[in-house]
Amino acid sequence: MADSKKIKKIAVLTSGGDAPGMNAAIRAVVRKAIVDGISVTGIQKGYQGLLSEEFVEMGPRSVSDSVQKGGTILRTARSEEFKTDEGKKKAAGICRKNKFDAVVVIGGDGSYRGAQALSVEGIPVMCLPGTIDLDIACTDYTIGFDTAVNTALQAIDKVRDTSSSHERCSIIEVMGRNAGYIALWCGVASGAEDILIPENYNFDEQEIINHIIESRKSGKTHHLIINAEGIGHSTSMARRIEAATGMETRATILGYMQRGGSPTCKDRYYASMMGAMAADLLAKGTVNRVISYKNGEFVDFDIDEALAMKKEISTYQYEIAKALSK
Ligand code: ADP
Repeated sequence: MADSKKIKKIAVLTSGGDAPGMNAAIRAVVRKAIVDGISVTGIQKGYQGLLSEEFVEMGPRSVSDSVQKGGTILRTARSEEFKTDEGKKKAAGICRKNKFDAVVVIGGDGSYRGAQALSVEGIPVMCLPGTIDLDIACTDYTIGFDTAVNTALQAIDKVRDTSSSHERCSIIEVMGRNAGYIALWCGVASGAEDILIPENYNFDEQEIINHIIESRKSGKTHHLIINAEGIGHSTSMARRIEAATGMETRATILGYMQRGGSPTCKDRYYASMMGAMAADLLAKGTVNRVISYKNGEFVDFDIDEALAMKKEISTYQYEIAKALSK
């Protein structure tokens, strides 16, 4: 929806799970908006901080020394109160009282739904995809994914070395409660023998056991399984596999280390472009859009259309992963 109203003041928040590169996005929003004559308020701790009015005035210097840092300088939170009807109305009232002409939301799918709810309450919004999970339908890229997969991959390579030396089976659990992108990418890139993703829920443990036995026969000295958080149960799976195959089996759960750390060049660059684009659109009076990267270009979609889109992990790519593990 294009809105002709001149935007003079915006607010920016990060919400939901943090992702490396969120700071580069905040910095770009702030600096580009200020260049365009728009003032910026930072909302701390996502929608929760909006409801409790935890605001900080942002200037070019308040985002200094942040582009290389992981996490989010505005901090993030999850808010149950915001999800209620009263919460949404209260949040919209606070935006009006503070004369926020638009709110920039950097977060995942849940945060987008929160932004959509604010737009329904008459508060213009602009969304940026900030999630390590890559699970936002309208975009091929999300801020933080590249750093997260590279962080996970470094750890996986290390476990693979020791697993190979000891002729072990290793199950490494990576993040992704509902989405298997981190597991698929890390599995292919680390040369894993099996990749378990939530989208392919009905996996057969006996198939993995048979695969381990066959691989041993074909001369493989280790067996690496990348398991997504959404499947989980890595430790008990390790016990069952060891009992069934006789191969020493260990589980490693990578956990929160995948969220942290300095963002990669790609995450910093894309977050910077997307943040600046958000500010540019707002300066033109365009609101209720989500910034995306699609087919090699930075583009924007209407928020309602974006949230109606569906994304499925590529079965073809999953099959390739299997073929390469032989
Ligand atoms: P992410 O943005 O990383 O997917 P969440 O799903 O936890 O993270 O969402 C972050 C916050 O967005 C929630 O704590 C809540 O305040 C808000 N939110 C999520 N879903 C909705 C919804 N359907 N309506 C309104 N607000 C929502």
